[in-house]
Amino acid sequence: MPDRVVICGAGVIGSAVAYYLAKRGVAATIIESDAVAAGASGAAAGILTPPLPNESNSPLFELQRRGYDMHLDLAEVLPDESGIDYRYQSTPRAMVAVTEEEEVHARRVAEALTAAGFQRSWLTPQELLDMSGWVSASNARGAVLLEPSGHVDAYRYSLALLTAAERMGANLRSGEVRGLEVEDGRVVGVNVGNQIVEADAVVVAMGPWSVDASNWLGLPIPVEPLKGQIVKVRPAEPIKQFSFGHRGNYAILKEPDVLFLGTTEERVGFDRSTTTKARDKILEFGIAFASVLKDAEFIEQTACLRPLSADNLPIIGSIPGIEGAYLGTGHGRQGILQSPPSGKALAELIVDGSTETLELAAFDPERFGKRVSSV
Ligand SMILES: Cc1cc2nc3c(=O)[nH]c(=O)nc-3n(C[C@H](O)[C@H](O)[C@H](O)COP(=O)(O)OP(=O)(O)OC[C@H]3O[C@@H](n4cnc5c(N)ncnc54)[C@H](O)[C@@H]3O)c2cc1C
Repeated sequence: MPDRVVICGAGVIGSAVAYYLAKRGVAATIIESDAVAAGASGAAAGILTPPLPNESNSPLFELQRRGYDMHLDLAEVLPDESGIDYRYQSTPRAMVAVTEEEEVHARRVAEALTAAGFQRSWLTPQELLDMSGWVSASNARGAVLLEPSGHVDAYRYSLALLTAAERMGANLRSGEVRGLEVEDGRVVGVNVGNQIVEADAVVVAMGPWSVDASNWLGLPIPVEPLKGQIVKVRPAEPIKQFSFGHRGNYAILKEPDVLFLGTTEERVGFDRSTTTKARDKILEFGIAFASVLKDAEFIEQTACLRPLSADNLPIIGSIPGIEGAYLGTGHGRQGILQSPPSGKALAELIVDGSTETLELAAFDPERFGKRVSSV
């Protein structure tokens, strides 16, 4: 078992690795260039949706199923372990169908849910309004009810993982990792500013910035930032706990009176600014499906960068040819959901040399090309 593990990046993935390592008795050092969960992990909507029964052929199915189940377990222990209530909540959630094509797809999902034993899954617009009390999707053909579904406060959840790890001995350091020190085919440290932090194992978990490690590892890491914006509003009157989505957009009640409306998918490099165009588009979506939002108070708009890989699958595993080097990135739109199995699998790889939590073949870091061995 390596004595000195360094994790580069204190987003939700780096924090989950630190947490599960700490559970195995390994106190890692986490190096963060900004602040804990300063990237997407702190600004995400935090929606935890289990995979649908008709998605079982996707390599993501097991990762998401494990993610959902492990979140249920974490919600029982992590608030006490960290001292942070990260507001895990279970919520009914509906996927609205407006076009004929969307209805065909949604009804297929509804059938799969019924076959999987759920009591009721297709809602007419009136039933949707009756159930939610505020989703007035009169332009819709209906909606499929996705149950169960949950959500967390993404920032608090990430902080809880890291704080629990720290309470078990992990150590957070401020600094920008600029390279890896490799000797005779094994990792011996990371380069932080002008200093070398010695290490027997290093995990690169720098979200979209993991692309910087391509040169350090001699491996193509095709991860790009996919900007997403969220608008937070306070409805003029109290609304019931409910969430809905249409295509890539969603509305989810996070606190008693704060509704998150999202989102955008923008390929604009590392630009993290909010735009009025996105704000207007997101508000338009919200009002089209919930007329109660016409009088809502605007609270805040955020923008952050999802780490999106070239094939939309996360990149999780060890780096062939560099003993002690690991990668955990590319979690795209669902890194909060996928963080427990990803973090635990990486911790197992480091401690045991293999993982029981997850089959990692589809997430192999070397799938985009072989490593250039001179590095
Ligand atoms: C609008 C939006 C909504 C979302 N909603 C959901 C959702 O509802 N459910 C869900 O499951 N997921 C959601 N996501 C996705 C989720 O937020 C991401 O997949 C996840 O946060 C990625 O985590 P990460 O740790 O890989 O990256 P990040 O959160 O980007 O963390 C990487 C960290 O590394 C640090 N870093 C970078 N370079 C260096 C360096 N050289 N040295 C040291 N530190 C460095 C950064 O400062 C950062 O803190 C959403 C994302 C967005 C943008």
